[in-house]
This record gives sequence, structure tokens and C-alpha cells, in this order.
Amino acid sequence: MVVRGILKGLARAPSLGRIGEKAQLSAFAPAPSVDLSPHSDLAVRQSVLDEFEQAGFAWLWSTDAKGRLSYVSPGASPDAAALVGKTLTSVIETDPENPDERSGRPLTFQLSAHSRITDLIVRFTGAACDDLRWWALSGQPHILPDGAFAGYRGIARDVTSEYRRKREDSRAAEFDSLTGLFNRHRMTRRMDAVLAAYRPIGRCCGVMMLDLDRFKQVNDTMGHPAGDELLRQVADRLRTVLGDRGEIGRLGGDEFQILLPNLDDRGQMGDLAAKLIQMVSQPYAIDGKRAVIGASLGIAVAPHDGDTREALIASADLALYAAKNGGRGQFRFFSSDLQDEALQRSVLNNDLRDALAKDELELHYQPVVRLDDNAVIGFEALMRWNHPERGAIPPSVFIPIAEESNLIVPLGDWALRQACMDALQWPENVRVGVNISPVQFANPGFITTVTDLLEQSGLKPQRLELELTENVFMRDTDLVDEAFSALKSLGVRLTLDDFGRGYSSLRYLQSASFDKLKVDRSFVATCAAEDQNSAKIISAIIVLADALGMETTIEGVEAFDQLEIVRELGARHVQGHIFANAMPMSEVNRRMESGDLKIEPNGPSRHRIERRAVFRRVGVIHEDHRYEAVMRDLSRVGARIDGLLGVPVGTNLIVDLGGGQLAVSLVTRSKGPMIGVEFETPLISDGSGGLCTRHRLSPQMMAMASAAASGDGPKGRQQFMEVAVRGSRDHG
Ligand code: C2E
Ligand code: MG
Ligand code: MG
Repeated sequence: MVVRGILKGLARAPSLGRIGEKAQLSAFAPAPSVDLSPHSDLAVRQSVLDEFEQAGFAWLWSTDAKGRLSYVSPGASPDAAALVGKTLTSVIETDPENPDERSGRPLTFQLSAHSRITDLIVRFTGAACDDLRWWALSGQPHILPDGAFAGYRGIARDVTSEYRRKREDSRAAEFDSLTGLFNRHRMTRRMDAVLAAYRPIGRCCGVMMLDLDRFKQVNDTMGHPAGDELLRQVADRLRTVLGDRGEIGRLGGDEFQILLPNLDDRGQMGDLAAKLIQMVSQPYAIDGKRAVIGASLGIAVAPHDGDTREALIASADLALYAAKNGGRGQFRFFSSDLQDEALQRSVLNNDLRDALAKDELELHYQPVVRLDDNAVIGFEALMRWNHPERGAIPPSVFIPIAEESNLIVPLGDWALRQACMDALQWPENVRVGVNISPVQFANPGFITTVTDLLEQSGLKPQRLELELTENVFMRDTDLVDEAFSALKSLGVRLTLDDFGRGYSSLRYLQSASFDKLKVDRSFVATCAAEDQNSAKIISAIIVLADALGMETTIEGVEAFDQLEIVRELGARHVQGHIFANAMPMSEVNRRMESGDLKIEPNGPSRHRIERRAVFRRVGVIHEDHRYEAVMRDLSRVGARIDGLLGVPVGTNLIVDLGGGQLAVSLVTRSKGPMIGVEFETPLISDGSGGLCTRHRLSPQMMAMASAAASGDGPKGRQQFMEVAVRGSRDHG
């Protein structure tokens, strides 16, 4: 009887789904009168139904009003009878991965709404064996003449093999077959979905674009299979670092994208970016060989940097481009002046080419001092460029630009030649250090250049110190080894510069015979302050270098407290502002002529956190009134602000640094129109040498905040006097 009821229900259904139609069940409408003879309609229908069930194309099911199974065709499962009495939802579940149904309404919802179900793919979980079975389920609510719901009547068929194939195809369409990461298609869909969900509620979402540095070299020198293997290993490392904080895809080639839903903290994003770059930059073992690559990374955060996928990716791409140009191995956050920066770079590159041709570049020399007797034992040559319109441009800006365009090769050769010529005028026991860019070092003509130069100038090779950074090792190891032994046989001295800044593998010390280590400035900067470990690290580096027969120079000593610490730690050679800044050759000559080759230390007694001189218009919000002022200097923990009279010490303010960055601050000094503030939460690095707040307010929130602080509101009373600030863009 139940079976007949099911048929009745199905016959009323406008569409039966594919199997239903094939079986032509709709032909078996209920008989108007009951005739039980073997040829009666009802008997025929009964036998067709039996045969249908036995054929196993599909089977029938029904539930009662409470959702419990009241009938299941025997063919549904070896223990079909045992299913009767169980609720339908306890023996099936929908597939969260179903490529067609991801946005569909949940099954339980559909059943409780008594909706019609058509070919819904479900997993059958009621079988005794754990063989994965997939069903296509159709059903129709059975409504009694009085309108009461009496359960479902339905049909189902096993679609396991076709559904499995479909899932695999869909996986292939969403995953990158080489690395197993998501592919571009999937990332696009995810990003659209996340942004659409976040837009109305103003939530933030970060996007990182990561690009490998020097991947092409690995591909070219070690072959494509090695390149593929490298990409797989990179993907594993990225996955490990990222964990469940976001989703990661390979967009093609050596380009990766990471989506960080619901993240707004730029401090966390920066930490993650640095960690990702660090992990990718560790050496790889491929076919028993070593490969080293690097990575650059750009970050954009919705909604500030774009609230559509296209806008957000364009911002992240621009940040990536800036990171690559900034010397690689870096991350950058998007900021609106990056566009400008890209343009500036190409202008600067052309200007630099001109400057080199017109002999407008200069070398300055910073003394390296022996602590025993304060005697100058050498000078480091540092390039200086005084741009006719822009003034002094630091080497940290123009060297990466020159590296990008290979202009560094003639530029570096010029510096090397000039430094050797200058050093010839100094006493025999004074050495000259020259910085060599990895690009210049990798240039095939480099060894010849050094050989010719020594020959032509007549400078004793042991007076020339080539300062290399560990980036020179980021290439084919055989070539690096050859270059090292050629230089050693020339007799020049080799220095490993900025030791401790990057990854500083001890292997570099083992494989290459350096004469000297220069301890990176960052350790000295913190050794006298909060960071106890810096002092220990400096001490360990000195001991290590001693054991390997290398000299050490400690860079960046500025204050007496730092000098005392490094002296106690066993430092013998120091280079830093406490002795002298880099000076022009004329000044070096003047000192030499007066026979003054000793320098007394001179500097502040204590090291202070670095404050950067800036000239930046900022907003200052106090009790809902907004003032315009000028920021004069900025550090991680505070700022000096010019333009407000009569602000008492202890006042709470909010400094609006622009772009949704609000810093809650306390006034700690007040003198005339100048106030000093401390930030409640320290700023963080923006990845490009600047500082930014951890969090930003969305543009909508900013609009609300500025309306509230417009001064028109009842509380927006002005309490301090705004004075005009005359300012120049002087960099102090
Ligand atoms: P570097 O080789 O590590 O040079 C030391 C840097 O530290 C110099 O910056 C120097 O002025 C600075 N410095 C020295 N003492 C102190 C101190 O006590 N406190 C602080 N805060 N800084 C100190 P500079 O001249 O701006 O050069 C930056 C970098 O640019 C150099 O780092 C080097 O990597 C590169 N560079 C400079 N000249 C050349 C060059 O001729 N060729 C190449 N390839 N790179 C160069
Ligand atoms: Mg150097
Ligand atoms: Mg250095």
C-alpha cells in the first residue's frame, strides 16, 4: 500500500527527474475504481513497480509526518529493512564540497519547509559498510485531503561513480595540479564571495601577492623538473606557515596569492609576511643539489585599499612591484603614493645614469676605529649623490634602482676605481672598504675589473676590502666558489657585511674565506635598550669570528652606552656616528695632513629610540574638535607636533595620521606651539622603512568620525589655539 501511495504522489509531481521520466511512472495514475483481476490497471501497475524496483535503476522511499522512513526499496542497501523507523536525515547528509550545491539551502531546512526536492546529491551514511555511496534524491511532500502533511514520497538512485568523477573534475578545475594549492579560478571565486559578504558589514580582509625572486635562474640552470620540484616545496612551506589563517593559491608560474579573511591588524600581517619570506628564502635540496631563492610580497587590505577584487588585487600588485624594486626579499603594504613611486623610480634611474656620465657622484669615507687607541685603521667608501633638484638622495634609495637596471655595474666599477685612487693618498696601513652589490659581483667581468684595477693603480691588494652581503650566495654555488678563490688569489680582503640582518647561514662562513665580519647595525641599535639578547648575539658573533680567525667590526655605534657595551663584549673595531659620519675626501685629507689619525668618541651618553624628521600635515582630535597641525618627527612610540598652543601635559588626543590611521595619544611635553605625544599602542613598520598603525578605520567609519569631530556638534568646542606653521621640507 505504501508503494502505491508513493506512486500516487510521484504521478502528481510535474517533473520526476531523469530516472522518473525514464521509468514512465507517470503513466501509472491511480485507478478510479479498484479492480484486482490480473489484468486490471492496479495489478499491472503493481507488477511494473515490482520490476522497476528489481531492475535497480532507482528505488523508492517514503517518510511519515515526523520524517521517519516508512519504506525503503530493498535494493537501496543490503540492510534496507533496518532503515525503516530511522529519520531520513540520520542516514543521509549533503556534501559540503558539492560543486553544484555550495550555496544551496541545507537539507534539513528544505525538509522542514516541506519543499519539493529534485535530484539532490546526498551521501548515504546508513550502510553498515563504510563504502562511500552517493545518491540523487527526489521527493514530494504527501499532503492529505484535509491539507495535513503526511510525510514524503520519493525516489532515489545511486550516482556514486558519476558523482565521484564530477567531484574530481571540479577539484581539477579548482586546484593547481603541480602544488595542490588552489588555482586562480578558485581564488577569484573565494575573494568575490568574501568581499561580497564583508562589504555590508565593513569587515577587513587582507590579500598578499607573493612572487619568487631568482626562480627563473633555478629553472634555467637546473632544468624544469627541478623548477617544478622547487615550486612544490615552496607551496609546502607556505602552507605550513599560513596554517588555517587564510587560503593560498598559485596563480601561475612563480606567483602565489594569499587571502586573509577577517584580518585588519597590519602588525600581524607584517609578521606573517616576514615569516613567509623567511621560510621561502631558506635553502632547498633538489636532486642532491642546493638551490636558494627569495621572495617579495605585496599586501593590500580591503576596504581601505580597494573594496572590489579587481581594485584590491591591483593595489596588492603595486605593493608587490614596489617590494621587488625596493631590493627584493621584502614586503610592502599598499599606500597611495606607490603609484607615484613607480614613476619616480624610472625618472631617478635616468637621472642617475646622467649623474654617472657627468661625474656628479661622490664617495664619502667613514672611519673604522680601533678601540684600543682610537686610531683610524681604515675607511668605508659610501656613495653620495646630490641630485641637482631633489638634494641628497640616500644610497638605500638609489642603489636598488641601479641594481634593477644593471646600472650598478658601471656605477660600482666607478666607486671601486675612485676608492682605490683615493686610498693611494693615505698612509700604507690604512685600508679602504668598498661595497660590492650582488649584481656587480655576479657580473662575469667582475674579477677582470678588480685585477686590472689593482694593476693600473698599484694599490696593494691587502689594502682593499670588498664588502659583500650574503646575497652574493643566492646563485649557483660553483660560480660563487670560483669567484671567491679568484679574489683570494689576487690577495684582496673579503668582508661579510651586515652579518645578522638576513638569514646569515653559518654555512657561508664555512664555505667562503672571509677576513672580516661586520655585525649588523640592528643589534647595536637595541643592545643598550630593552633587548638583552642583542648584546649576547654580538658577543657570540665576536667569539665565532675569533675562532675562525676573522676580524669583526661593529657598525652603527652612536652613543656612549652602546660603546661601553660593545667594548665589554670584546669588540676591537667600531664604525659609527660616535666617531664620525662619512666625510668627503677633502675632510679626510685635511685630517691626514694635520697628522690626526685618531678620533675621540663624541656623542650622546644614551641611545634614544630613532626619531625620524618628517614634515607631514596631520589632524589632532580633542574632545570631538579637530585641529590641523604639522608633525615634525615620528618614532614608533611618539611624535612631535607643531601648531597647537596651550595644550596641557597629560591631555588625551587622537592623532589622525591619514588613511584611516588614528593613534590614541597622551601629551607628554608642551612648549609654545610644539607638543610631544606618546602613542598608547606603538606603531609598526610598514615594510618600507616607514611606520603605520596596526589597525585602520574603514572609509565609512572615518566619514562618521570626521562628521562627529567637525566642530559643529554640541561638544565640538575649540579649546586650543591653532597657529599657522611655516614649514620647509627640510630633512634634518
Ligand atoms: P653599509 O655598507 O652597511 O654601510 C653602512 C651604513 O651605515 C652607511 O649608510 C652609513 O652611513 C651608516 N652608518 C654608519 N654609522 C652609523 C651610525 O652610527 N648610525 C646610523 N644610523 N647609521 C650609520 P649609507 O651611507 O646610507 O649606506 C647605506 C647602504 O647603501 C650601505 O650599507 C651599502 O649597502 C649601500 N651602499 C653605499 N655605498 C655603496 C656603494 O658604493 N656601492 C654599493 N653597492 N652599495 C653602497
Ligand atoms: Mg658596507
Ligand atoms: Mg653594513
